[in-house]
Amino acid sequence: MKLLEERIRKDGTVKAGNVLKVDSFLNHQMDIDLFNEMGKEWAHLFADRKITKILTVEASGIGIACVAAQHFHVPVVFAKKSQSVNIDGEVYSKIESFTHKRVYDVIVSKKFLHPEDHILIIDDFLANGCALEGLIDIVNKAGASVEGVGIAVEKGFQKGGDLIRSKGIRVESLAIVESMDDKTGEITFRS
Ligand code: 5GP
Repeated sequence: MKLLEERIRKDGTVKAGNVLKVDSFLNHQMDIDLFNEMGKEWAHLFADRKITKILTVEASGIGIACVAAQHFHVPVVFAKKSQSVNIDGEVYSKIESFTHKRVYDVIVSKKFLHPEDHILIIDDFLANGCALEGLIDIVNKAGASVEGVGIAVEKGFQKGGDLIRSKGIRVESLAIVESMDDKTGEITFRS
């Protein structure tokens, strides 16, 4: 998506350790007009899929998912990273990532995910795929189906994209960073 790539080039900053900061428009201050265009694009890309619910993870996925949901007309459920008073009853939680050999703590109430749900997962970044693995695991445990994954920024030089696509899951990333250099600030996108 050219609009997002241009914005990343203009306002994104490359930090040491392969970190791309997009806090001025994506995951701290949020550009809602941009989010709206992103939501429109995902709705177009997933037009052939029946989506009944969007699943994301707090915190930075929530804004993007909510704006996108206006184009799908479905509810958004966000996985929580810690227990809270808003979580009651049975939950799906403590997802074990076999790939990363660690427990990834995300919590969703069982009452909001059902076997008949067709889920679109939305998140801001895809790097090693650990967050996504956790969400996919939760959907599988609920017996619901993952219709696809919408990502704002995929770091194509990290393994998450290949990992998730190799499971047969459709991943639509609106910008895929092929390489970035924290010395020069240069960012190259996959075409
Ligand atoms: P993964 O589990 O795919 O390795 O990482 C996904 C999560 O890590 C994202 O939801 C995001 O919060 C964070 N993340 C990974 N790489 C970056 C990055 O380069 N920049 C920012 N801002 N967040 C990142």
